[in-house]
Amino acid sequence: MGAKRLRVTAPPYIEAAMTRRILITSALPYINGIKHLGNLAGSQLPADVYARFERARGSEVLLICATDEHGTPAELAAAAAGQDVRTYCDEQHALQRQVSDGFNLSWDWFGRSSSPENRELTQHFADALEDHGLIEERVDQMIYSIDDGRFLPDRYVEGTCPVCSFRPARGDQCDNCGSLLDPTELIEPYSAVSKSTNLELRATRHLYLLQSKMQERIRAWVDARTDFPPLTRSIAYKHLDEGLIDRGITRDLAWGVPVTRNGAPRPGFEHKVFYVWFDAPIEYIGATAEWANATGYDWERWWRTDKGADDVRYVQFMGKDNVAFHTVGFPATVLGVEEPWKMVDHLKSFNWLNWYGGKFSTSQRRGVFMDAALEILPADVWRWYLCAQSPETADSAFTWEAFQNLVNKDLADVLGNFVNRILKFTETRFDGVVPEGGEPGPLEARLAAELGAKLTELVQHMEGLELRRSTQALRAIWVLGNEYLTEAAPWTAIKSDRDRAAVVVRAGLNLVALFARLSRPFIPTTAAVIAEAVGDAAALEIWPGTDGAVELARLPVGRPVKAPEVLFRKIEDAQIAEWVERFGGAP
Ligand SMILES: [Zn+2]
Repeated sequence: MGAKRLRVTAPPYIEAAMTRRILITSALPYINGIKHLGNLAGSQLPADVYARFERARGSEVLLICATDEHGTPAELAAAAAGQDVRTYCDEQHALQRQVSDGFNLSWDWFGRSSSPENRELTQHFADALEDHGLIEERVDQMIYSIDDGRFLPDRYVEGTCPVCSFRPARGDQCDNCGSLLDPTELIEPYSAVSKSTNLELRATRHLYLLQSKMQERIRAWVDARTDFPPLTRSIAYKHLDEGLIDRGITRDLAWGVPVTRNGAPRPGFEHKVFYVWFDAPIEYIGATAEWANATGYDWERWWRTDKGADDVRYVQFMGKDNVAFHTVGFPATVLGVEEPWKMVDHLKSFNWLNWYGGKFSTSQRRGVFMDAALEILPADVWRWYLCAQSPETADSAFTWEAFQNLVNKDLADVLGNFVNRILKFTETRFDGVVPEGGEPGPLEARLAAELGAKLTELVQHMEGLELRRSTQALRAIWVLGNEYLTEAAPWTAIKSDRDRAAVVVRAGLNLVALFARLSRPFIPTTAAVIAEAVGDAAALEIWPGTDGAVELARLPVGRPVKAPEVLFRKIEDAQIAEWVERFGGAP
């Protein structure tokens, strides 16, 4: 591997202080088009939220994502767009990067699986697997489309289902009866690319990864992953129990990682590439190498346990459709090479965020897509909703009504209203500064105690990667603030006891500063505005402790504060009607 090995080492005293190093990867979005909110909710957003939390706690975090660019769908989408596939991927990557930035996803690197780094690593893994007797050449009979001048992947052969007579059934599966098919079983098959029926079976050589030889090693590895959540483990065991089959890892395509053996083109494979499923997960490592080459950092200390990665905690985020591949398929690649690669420690998987009763669909453009979402509302509103409704324990359904209700209640009524109320009052009654005078009383003591308990709970849920519970704990903290303010009623106290009102206002302003820090992983843009309002931007990126009394007395007396513009405008019924019209989804 020729990736740069420039090592940037922190001074020893800093290294000693670094308690935790955390590598975080999100499932890689496929290159063909902007992703929908379900994709965002089930991998990229939770990865970002967790990264922000751990960075704020002082962990050394590396957050990696990339576009998954190889394979037939990219080739066909490029052809449909009248572009060569490289140009198409360049454009689509830039578009995905743009919406990713729009959602404030804080990648350390947003890479590309078509990078030279990934090519080199993929070829290395294939060589090492073959050196260990885990790859062999086999001859397949595959369907060749004479008019298209290419072999057709299973799903690009269509015809009549031999089981239920549905037409068109795809060569891998019938959408009507669900039967798993082999394309040669289809009656009157044709090319889904050109509709040509001029097809024939041709012999073609491919490389197979002998996963069947890895069955026991992978089961032992999964057995040892006691940190995996139940959804992840159940999917892994289902596939292990069915038994691992050997997988073809090459395809007759032009777009992909060229098939080599020890650095030279592999004879007979000059017009073949590695299958996209083989090279895509290697891009987690490839993207880290891209980051290292661009920045001068060392990527191996994140990925090689013999080169510093032994103390790294590696967390992956993905939808449930990707879990089998990441608990069985990719581990077969990594374990098979017998090299000291860092393996995943925690695999956080998600169910589906559905669109009303059905699925979001990229091909049918059903649902709200990331670019359109940003056109109608700020990213923070979506981020909060998608975390609060995270499809963790079961599928979760998006409806406009529930969205409106949750956003208006949590963000406008609870958080926005609190910040606005206390800051306006400070401006009108205390000259816009953190007031002096008075001593905290029993109400503040109770608030501090309740706050401490909730802060501990929030940290536990964040550490446990429980998004819904984290948002519930955070909302409960916001509610504590509102309840305190209502009970302590500084607007009444000010009439008779200015010092008492000052105590309440100080506590309230400190809560504002605290809310900003706690909310930042979820709603980073708004958190910055809130912190700015109480002059606390410098502390924004530092996660608070769990001592409520300390957090209620942090802001210096006399510091100027200023009410921000309205943080969250309520979503009106008329807006909902407009969006239903635009995006569909009326019940
Ligand atoms: Zn069928």
